[in-house]
Amino acid sequence: MRLQLTLEICHLYPDLMNLYGDRGNVIALWRRCIWRGIEARVTGVSLSSSSDLSQFDILFLGGGQDREQKAICYDFARVKAPQIRKAVEDGTPFLAICGGYQLLGEYYQTGSGEKLPGLGIMDLYTVAGRKRLIGNVVAQSDLAGSGPARLVGFENHSGKTYLGRGVKPLARVLSGYGNNGEDGLEGAVYKNAVGTYLHGALLPKNPWLADWLISQALKRKYGRAEIAPLDDTLELMAQESAARRAAKR
Ligand code: GLN
Repeated sequence: MRLQLTLEICHLYPDLMNLYGDRGNVIALWRRCIWRGIEARVTGVSLSSSSDLSQFDILFLGGGQDREQKAICYDFARVKAPQIRKAVEDGTPFLAICGGYQLLGEYYQTGSGEKLPGLGIMDLYTVAGRKRLIGNVVAQSDLAGSGPARLVGFENHSGKTYLGRGVKPLARVLSGYGNNGEDGLEGAVYKNAVGTYLHGALLPKNPWLADWLISQALKRKYGRAEIAPLDDTLELMAQESAARRAAKR
């Protein structure tokens, strides 16, 4: 009998952290599992919930503005930080976007000078700049290990993120600002946790990254990472159109 593969996906703070179609990332993960016959379930976990996060195979946290970031960083401190740290240390795939990405680091210093403590999972920090970094981005990533892969998305942030030695960049920017508009780097990777400034939604337009997260989750849970290929014609057309828009910046 064939083993039924099942992945539990956790959408952290779906009511607070969800900008520019971030929810589409969860839908893409879920759909790409279902299309392959992998059972997938999505559970939203928000403020104060003390759900056991170790039951999840993939974690997702979207972007949000300073007010929402402040609310969730208090919730991290009161309730979830130890569990999220443990999940990442145990190799759980985690995708965090923009405001969520900033909070994986040591701190985010807002435009008014307030320092919001992050989870300290990633060796990085973020300081708000004077200018908003807005527009379409094209970058190139080696994460999947099969040669450079294109990553497209939309960024809108004032925070500038600087990476320390303990993390690797997710990608190099070809067009756009990325982490800070200065060092040409975009996003960060620690174990199977990925942070990025790219909204979009990101995963529908970058199916290779969705599949990387799914593969890592299967490898961790079942010891096998191979997944069946899908027809990505539409996804790659969307990627191409986003790349063309970015080239016009
Ligand atoms: N508040 C953060 C910034 O502007 C995050 C914004 C976002 O998630 N789009 O830097």
